[in-house]
Amino acid sequence: MQPSMFNVQVPLPERNEVFLMNTFSDAQLLVSADVPALLERVAAGGGDDFNDEERETLRTLAENGFVVTSRDAERRGLEEFFRSVREDRDQLKVTVLTTLQCNFACDYCFQGDHGDYNLFAQKMTLDQAAQVVAWIEARLDVVRPQRFTLTLFGGEPLLNLPAAYYLAEQCFRACEARGIEQAITIITNGLLLTEEVVDRLLPFGLAGVKITLDGDRDTHNRMRPLRGKQGTFDRIIENMRRVGPKVPLVVGGNFDETSADSYPALLDFLREQSFADDIVKVNFKPIIKSTQSTPPGVIRLTPVAADGRPNPNPLNGTCMTSAGAGTSIGGGCDSCGFADEKMTFLRAETRKRGFYTPDGVHMGPCELHSRHAYTIGPDGSLYSCPGFTGEPSLSVGHIDGRHEGWRAAAAGRFDALAPYDKCGDCHFIPVCAGGCSVASHTELGDMNAPSCHKASMEAALVVLAHSAAAAC
Ligand code: SF4
Ligand code: SF4
Repeated sequence: MQPSMFNVQVPLPERNEVFLMNTFSDAQLLVSADVPALLERVAAGGGDDFNDEERETLRTLAENGFVVTSRDAERRGLEEFFRSVREDRDQLKVTVLTTLQCNFACDYCFQGDHGDYNLFAQKMTLDQAAQVVAWIEARLDVVRPQRFTLTLFGGEPLLNLPAAYYLAEQCFRACEARGIEQAITIITNGLLLTEEVVDRLLPFGLAGVKITLDGDRDTHNRMRPLRGKQGTFDRIIENMRRVGPKVPLVVGGNFDETSADSYPALLDFLREQSFADDIVKVNFKPIIKSTQSTPPGVIRLTPVAADGRPNPNPLNGTCMTSAGAGTSIGGGCDSCGFADEKMTFLRAETRKRGFYTPDGVHMGPCELHSRHAYTIGPDGSLYSCPGFTGEPSLSVGHIDGRHEGWRAAAAGRFDALAPYDKCGDCHFIPVCAGGCSVASHTELGDMNAPSCHKASMEAALVVLAHSAAAAC
């Protein structure tokens, strides 16, 4: 008998209790201080001198995963968990980048209306969209999921509405014929998000729209302007007001050292809007930069190519706006980057206004660990997650089934990814899985290295403990 290596605890002296959580079983208990003491006796090898009450407590702890038969058994359980995450067939999840073009000119993004970028940026044709649908149909037949999630992403996906409508309609028909539920999410900058677009997609399963707001009105207009520097905030808000009653809204935001402090004003503003209750989730992330001027606490994007030299086409932009576990409405990655202190601050500010935001503890495993989550670029290239789409050399295949050695080699590398193997006895492995491999790749040049933000998870755990206690 052993205490689980995934036990975490937060003392709550004001209640004379301890919050006990197991990150593997997800059991959460408020217990008196003698329970952690009992676990310490178990760890020290005690066993013969427990009284009846202690035995009963240990039975309850074992039922909830706080006590395990052995570390080896627990390790085997963890491996089995990652295997089941990988092979899970309940959901087939496909993110399609219908275009790499964008109508914004955000300074921090490699996409968008910078110079002649849009002239050459890829845009999916209807023929290519038809190939995507055929590929998805084949996957539906192999995987036979209960649910199919289609995420429309870019670039700005609403700049290619014919492809978006085609994919939505044809995939819906394919799912309907197989008795599979389809859910569509769109990740958009919101400028072209009209009622007409929403009305057109709702019958095919539109379940959520994620819109990016980078701070209050002035900050957003500075961070996310049109090419002529015109602001975009007012139009996006008006669009949200119009579509909010029809479809759940998710607000995402990218912050840096100059914009983070403007988020409380944005949250106040959103709370006052008629569509406030249509916002089902708010989640902010730090901007990942490729410059050396990144402030402390923000993941610095160090563009690294496969050969280790600086990459002229870095991954910035895509990772922070999509990807990830994405199982909730609105899709989107909730795990790929933390600015530890600011994230804690922004989560607290978000909750204060009554908006839901991820708790900062349950952050993974992200979709990179799932065999049945795919990302497709405008040219039909397949990627392991949207965070890697900025680097075509990391494509793991193509929807036309072509065999190319370099894609097969990349696929092999992604198949073998297990950064958590290097995380030792960390308590957070089941809910972190070693962090974001895009961050590891870009920062360390090794996607299989952990990208660790344990301090952020520990801070989030304290908040989780206090809110669990407040709810009792
Ligand atoms: S590797 Fe990073 S960007 Fe990709 S899904 Fe995971 S957390 Fe998101
Ligand atoms: S990356 Fe850090 S927090 Fe995550 S599992 Fe590894 S050691 Fe733990």
